[in-house]
Amino acid sequence: MDLSKYRVEPGSRVGLSEWSTDDADGLERDGVEARFAENVEAISALQHRLYAEHKRSVLVVLQAMDAAGKDSTIRHVFGAVNPQGVQVKAFKKPTPDELDRDFLWRVHRHAPKRGHIQVFNRSHYEDVLIVRVNGLVPEERWRARYEIINQFEALLAQAGTRIVKVYLHVSKERQKEKLLRRLTDPSRNWKFEAADFETRSKWDAYMRAYEDAIGRCSTQAAPWFIVPADRKWHRLAIVSEIVRTTLESIGPEFPEPSIDPQAALELLDRFT
Ligand code: ATP
Ligand code: MG
Repeated sequence: MDLSKYRVEPGSRVGLSEWSTDDADGLERDGVEARFAENVEAISALQHRLYAEHKRSVLVVLQAMDAAGKDSTIRHVFGAVNPQGVQVKAFKKPTPDELDRDFLWRVHRHAPKRGHIQVFNRSHYEDVLIVRVNGLVPEERWRARYEIINQFEALLAQAGTRIVKVYLHVSKERQKEKLLRRLTDPSRNWKFEAADFETRSKWDAYMRAYEDAIGRCSTQAAPWFIVPADRKWHRLAIVSEIVRTTLESIGPEFPEPSIDPQAALELLDRFT
């Protein structure tokens, strides 16, 4: 799968209307599902090495409009990974205690530990998205944040964290179908919030905010990917491919054993 078409080059201007929300890349569903299954296996095996190696870490940032499929993506892509090696943090509306600090305070403490994959379900990008759209802080404050975010991510990268950021790009029509499903399917009712409609009513302002966030903060150290999200199977295949490729590019290795296994075996024989 060619991921370069989903990757945002550093320094480029992003116009989201030019990015497809349902492009299937000429791929058939069966083939893509098989690839997804392979990716999930590979991610699990690579994470095992990452954990054993205990040197580097991975941060996956997921952002999207409501009902684009963030939760389902996390569940499927990381479902086979050893739960000890992957953490998921969902960033909700900040608490009063969090609002009394700088916007990165609550985020930094969830930076991944060595050997771990950390997934952010929403992230510090909310501080240039909902905060910008709803004018929660003055413009000069949120405008300064793009550069602060780039510096923050560079700091994490320098400490050994590989960062990938994924925007699940859903169309306004598809979002409507999925929000309606939250209302009509009893098992999904709990997911629905009136706030979803409010956010939807500001769709265009959100698109402008996403364009700036993605364009200004796609860096060599922490690139953004814009993933077509209208079709579930295609979205899962691409996101899993991004995570797999990221882990492969790190190339984690099992560490050298601290003992000579042969000598230890002989010792074990002697004492049993
Ligand atoms: P779901 O798909 O289940 O609805 P969700 O990620 O939308 O998941 P919610 O609890 O519905 O979770 O929404 C979290 C809300 O918190 C979002 O509206 C988000 O914009 C908001 N939020 C997150 N970070 C911030 C922030 N820094 N400032 C203000 N609001 C924030
Ligand atoms: Mg929500």
